[in-house]
Amino acid sequence: MITKPKGTMDVYGEDAKKREYVNEILRNVCSKYNYNYIETPIFEATELFHRGVGEATDIVNKETYTFKDRSDRSLTLRPEGTASVVRWFIENKLYGNITDPVKVFYNGKMYRYERPQAGRYREFTQFGVEFIGSNDILADIDVISLAYNTYNLLGLKDVTIVLNTIGDKESRANYRESLIKYFTPLISNLCEDCQKRLKTNPLRILDCKIDNETDILKNAPKTIDYLNKESKDRYNTIKEYLDLMDINYLEDYSLVRGLDYYDHTVFEIIADVPGLGNIALGGGGRYNDLIEKLGGPSIPAVGFAMGYDRTILAMDNSNVNLNLKEDIDIYVMYVSKTEKETASYLVQDLRLNGFITETDYFNKGLKGEFKAIDRLNPKYIIILNDQDLKTNKVTLKDNLTKEEQKIEINNLVDYLDTNL
Ligand code: AMP
Repeated sequence: MITKPKGTMDVYGEDAKKREYVNEILRNVCSKYNYNYIETPIFEATELFHRGVGEATDIVNKETYTFKDRSDRSLTLRPEGTASVVRWFIENKLYGNITDPVKVFYNGKMYRYERPQAGRYREFTQFGVEFIGSNDILADIDVISLAYNTYNLLGLKDVTIVLNTIGDKESRANYRESLIKYFTPLISNLCEDCQKRLKTNPLRILDCKIDNETDILKNAPKTIDYLNKESKDRYNTIKEYLDLMDINYLEDYSLVRGLDYYDHTVFEIIADVPGLGNIALGGGGRYNDLIEKLGGPSIPAVGFAMGYDRTILAMDNSNVNLNLKEDIDIYVMYVSKTEKETASYLVQDLRLNGFITETDYFNKGLKGEFKAIDRLNPKYIIILNDQDLKTNKVTLKDNLTKEEQKIEINNLVDYLDTNL
């Protein structure tokens, strides 16, 4: 038997409906915030992620699916969405004349070779937004508010925005130095990867999945103590705006996020999910250097991404009531060949007129059809019989009251429109 690859999933039935539900809410929120939908390729030049996400990150270092195509090009299945959106922005020279910000949202499969566990897969779905072109506080606030309100609209009231800043370049350089000073005498106590990170990117030690519970990490220098005045002021203003907007947040000076491209604002959305503890449903931040790093001009941007799988897990565990069951409107019954012919175009007409319509695909006969009706619970049943069809009529049965009436086929849609 061929089975699905490790860390992937088939989504169907109730789970698929939940995704559609989440999708609809996300699309709705994005339209109100005026973000436009974008699709980018699932695979990109490997270099994009090496330069964009960062050589020293776990995502690029250990988790990418990279392969050569038949022309020997190195391609990588995207591990996240931001680098691709930035590549699109630069490739289409959208930086020419930015009078309005470029606001886009995406929604698609991402790939990371991680150890699969609940809420962590190798193929997973992310939704994300990118706000490109403005360095103003309001852009950060736009993205945080969108993230926050999305979760609220999804029925997750107990999510927390965890907020921090990693400051501008100068502040980060100060902070980096302090981390090197702090970690150097202690580094032999940390994992092999952290030992490498001390040389390549000491910030990455702080989100090490192996060492993150150790006292060494807990007592490490905190970003807040190394911010220059401008970065501190900016951070404080962000907090003032969040207060003004009634957005709940919690500060965590050790939050740095697992990707290399952030500066200033970083945030995560955390939920306490029974069985999983505190997990990150999504995260984001400002990335003012990424566009330049990928070959464009220096243009500021901010973004956010959330995982579907963990969000749905959190919704399940928080008993969010979705009321997903959608009963069908009409079931069309037939027995004879001519009745079946009528059924074929009648179901089409009813569907095109907006009714969820089903019929018998197995020639089950009346007994089997009634059993199907019990399962599908249609609001109306249409019973075709040759006698009635001679006068263009059918029997229409209200499945709730069980009342039956004969009705002309031509009047069916009008009647159902008024009564359904
Ligand atoms: P990141 O791009 O790492 O900031 O991740 C943003 C969000 O995507 C996380 O908060 C998760 O909800 C989700 N996510 C990241 N990696 C995975 C994964 N391997 N499986 C499922 N969801 C993930």
